[in-house]
Amino acid sequence: MVEFQYRCTECVKQYDRDQVRYLCPVCGDKYSFGTPLRGVLSVLFDYDQISRLFNVQKPDWNLFSAVERECYPAFPVGNTPFLKAERLGDELGFSNIWIKNEGVNPTGSLKDRASYTIVAEANRLGEDRIVAASTGNAASSLAAVAAATGKQAVIFVPENAPQAKLVQMIVHGACVIPVRGTYDDAFGISIEFTKEFGGLNRNTAYHPLTIEGKKYAGLEIWQQNQFRVPDFIFVPVGDGVIISGIYKAFYDLKQSRLIDRLPRLVCVQAESSDAIHRYITTGDYQPARQPHTIADSISVSVPSNVYMAAKAVQDTGGFSVTVSDEEIIEGMNILARYAGIFAEPAAATPLAALRKIRDAGMVKENEQVVLLVTGHGLKDIPAALKHVKIPKAVSPNLSDVIEMVERF
Ligand SMILES: [Zn+2]
Repeated sequence: MVEFQYRCTECVKQYDRDQVRYLCPVCGDKYSFGTPLRGVLSVLFDYDQISRLFNVQKPDWNLFSAVERECYPAFPVGNTPFLKAERLGDELGFSNIWIKNEGVNPTGSLKDRASYTIVAEANRLGEDRIVAASTGNAASSLAAVAAATGKQAVIFVPENAPQAKLVQMIVHGACVIPVRGTYDDAFGISIEFTKEFGGLNRNTAYHPLTIEGKKYAGLEIWQQNQFRVPDFIFVPVGDGVIISGIYKAFYDLKQSRLIDRLPRLVCVQAESSDAIHRYITTGDYQPARQPHTIADSISVSVPSNVYMAAKAVQDTGGFSVTVSDEEIIEGMNILARYAGIFAEPAAATPLAALRKIRDAGMVKENEQVVLLVTGHGLKDIPAALKHVKIPKAVSPNLSDVIEMVERF
């Protein structure tokens, strides 16, 4: 680990590590419930030191960590597969499509990376309670990592969170509080709760180390891609924190002079949950009025990390796309049938977006595209049932069976 400071992404004021915990004390005061966060903090490392110490032959990823190695729980997170999807590429008309499959993290989503880092920070601070609001995946992942380390997880979720995710949280022994209302309501009450009753708040972007945790998906892409920078990374975007984490990975590498260019980041949102997309394309921030999408993991009215997400796209020369629920369902179907990967709806949005723009010339046929698959399909069976039909049972005799096979 190298030294770091927190820097406010808004006023650029810098703070020592234990001088602040969540938002910039100056800009954070401007935050009020129902608006994007203000004064989100970013970790600023001593990049000269990383540059001196990092060796690609023997990479020490602790150099990029904002928590000491010994604080991390003994819980396996990350090191997820990175694979070339040849058959999928042929189907789409591209020759260099890759998948980073985050659905195989311990609880089935990329969110494990942030929970892992926050639990490490809780260990460092001696905090026994961690509080979070979540659309489902962050909470189920926090519940698991907290269970493995004997911490209490207090979790606020919108009451309509998918059942599988609710079951995951409860099975791991978290204190689960379904909130009448949306994710935004759960977010607000969770912050009030920590202010009043303490515990470490894991809310995404509100705690700056959630971005640092998610960053590791980007660092792994670079390593698994033989230390080369892909041309594009397509990222599902709800709150804007995963895309900020991927950006931070490549920002850190560039500042450390390990790479000389950034991958173009593509923000993918659902049509009805498109506040970041609209901010990127028009410069005007408005909350999404009625987010209602099958992709529950990215269903957000007021994205907490709008400004950093927009910067991630703009600084890398990327762009933004929205996809409809029909396109998402079709994307799930194609990803499952042509790449062997069963993704939850939000995790299929990168593929849906690439498919949508394939004839627009924004991505060339041979450019390297990474689709970030953020969560496993078994997390949301009702969504998958929208594109599959379970066949009726037949008698166990060969004539009935062969008829079925032939009709298939
Ligand atoms: Zn500030």
